[in-house]
Amino acid sequence: MDLSTSMRTDMCGRLTTADIGRTITVCGWVDRRREHGEHLAFVDLRDHTGVLQCVIDGSRDLRSEYVARMTGVVRPRPEGTVNPDLATGEVEVDVASVEILSQAEPPPFPMDERTSVDETIRLRHRYVDLRKNRMQRNLRTRAVVNSTIRRAMEEQGFVEVETPMLIASTPEGARDFVVPSRKEPGSFYALPQSPQLFKQLCMVGGIDRYYQIARCLRDEDLRADRQFEFMQLDAEASFVNQEDVFEFISRAVADVVEAVAGERPAEFPRISWSDSMERFGNDKPDTRFGMELVELTAIFEGTGARVFQADCVKGICLAGGAESLSRNQIDSLVEDCKRWGAKGLAWMRVVADDNATATLDAGVAKFLSVEESAAVIEALDAVPGDMVFLVADTRRLVQRVLGMLRLALGRPAVDEGGLKFLWVVDFPLFDALGEDGSPIPAHHPFTMVHPDDMEKLDAGGEALLDVRSQSYDLVLNGWELGSGSVRIHRSDIQGRIFELLGIGAEEARAKFGFLLDAFRFGAPPHAGFAFGIDRLTALLLGEENIREVIAFPKTQSGADPLTNAPGPLDAGQLEELGLRVIPRAT
Ligand code: ASP
Repeated sequence: MDLSTSMRTDMCGRLTTADIGRTITVCGWVDRRREHGEHLAFVDLRDHTGVLQCVIDGSRDLRSEYVARMTGVVRPRPEGTVNPDLATGEVEVDVASVEILSQAEPPPFPMDERTSVDETIRLRHRYVDLRKNRMQRNLRTRAVVNSTIRRAMEEQGFVEVETPMLIASTPEGARDFVVPSRKEPGSFYALPQSPQLFKQLCMVGGIDRYYQIARCLRDEDLRADRQFEFMQLDAEASFVNQEDVFEFISRAVADVVEAVAGERPAEFPRISWSDSMERFGNDKPDTRFGMELVELTAIFEGTGARVFQADCVKGICLAGGAESLSRNQIDSLVEDCKRWGAKGLAWMRVVADDNATATLDAGVAKFLSVEESAAVIEALDAVPGDMVFLVADTRRLVQRVLGMLRLALGRPAVDEGGLKFLWVVDFPLFDALGEDGSPIPAHHPFTMVHPDDMEKLDAGGEALLDVRSQSYDLVLNGWELGSGSVRIHRSDIQGRIFELLGIGAEEARAKFGFLLDAFRFGAPPHAGFAFGIDRLTALLLGEENIREVIAFPKTQSGADPLTNAPGPLDAGQLEELGLRVIPRAT
């Protein structure tokens, strides 16, 4: 693309031997300066395309991060000074005129990519940080992600509709950010946790296929993978089922991967929620590596070993673990498992006995019968040199603890193991039973019951936890990329779910009355999905932390060191909004 303007003829990083002899003008920041004898200096001028070596008059005061415009003739670098690592490494510019466009204070941190800089300092001076290669690459990749999503959705007949930011509360289950109303002191808007209710209203409104690259705001504790505000592709379609959703979302995601990584991923496999829990111990399996949880309960039925007398026994096998793990490491794994809720972790080395047959060797193994040992080894497919880990407890706990242990032992680094997408389907409708006995929804309360489980709704109590929903997640390398569901579009079913959730008619009216009203005026069956763009971009770039793909993120504590948000309001503003601040108890 030609980026020349009246201020410049070329971009720094694009000049090659093909340009030798041309008189060019480039603009940018001074990356590095090296003196060359008394009269000359080498200055690397940088713009977002790269750096260009410029030879200037050594008496010019041109320092790091000054903004300059240089005109000169492109010439080959003298022999021996060619830099093969640099796109422009074979040429330099013999500068005839230098115009300083802007002076600069010394940068607040070294500008080379290798020095690691405290994140708060990077964020305070984000405008300087953004000049670095890594951030340029990340933000430009992000732009490709956005535009690819838009194209994919539009090609599939989706229409971008913008939904409001100042709304009533949304039902995603996180805490709302609220905005006080000046016109109506004591009243508040909520910022959207997602456009969920509006996209459903769009369906009632006949939009048929809606999408939006939407900003969502949730007042949750921040982690590496979480920000108060994040972007998602939000989509909803009418007269579709789960399969259709998989198709249009897979298409958009595959297009993005192809655009960024150059290769189209294979069709995304599927796993049911319950299989995922059994085999991986969580609902977002990282399938870049094996080490699956193996069912051992039957082996220990009627066992004499007290530790294995439990509802459920499962194990995992770490190949080569007998040698690779030190005693200290094992002890700390045992402690981890206890912290995760297990009573203990049974670990046993697999060794070869006198007949060269694999057998278990370690403290716990002596409680096992010969048959039990053999069966464990066979079930786990273990060979001498491996280490096996067993947990016995309730099924949920065994799954959780071994699932975490599996990750602790085997999870590849963020940029290793390729991209493993997976649809997780048939989530339960309810997560757990609350203190008052009413079930807690696993997704938002508009999620449709699995057609085969409709009757089970009447069962009540614990049996409700077996009711499946028509909701699904997309997982990438062990991260939940997004989720969606077929929605309830009939007010009778919705009423029943509200009832089960212990949301009374009055509360339902107060919270979601407008949606229920809308459904009375002709709602099409509809389903949708949303996936996080920050996370997808970060994973595609091999970035651990989503802050690296956000231009102006908040720190882990939710502050913005650049603008100093959040900050207090002055007395006048508080007065106008009808607010009084209660000083925090110390
Ligand atoms: N609104 C949901 C979310 O933001 C996604 C969906 O169900 O479409 O997680």
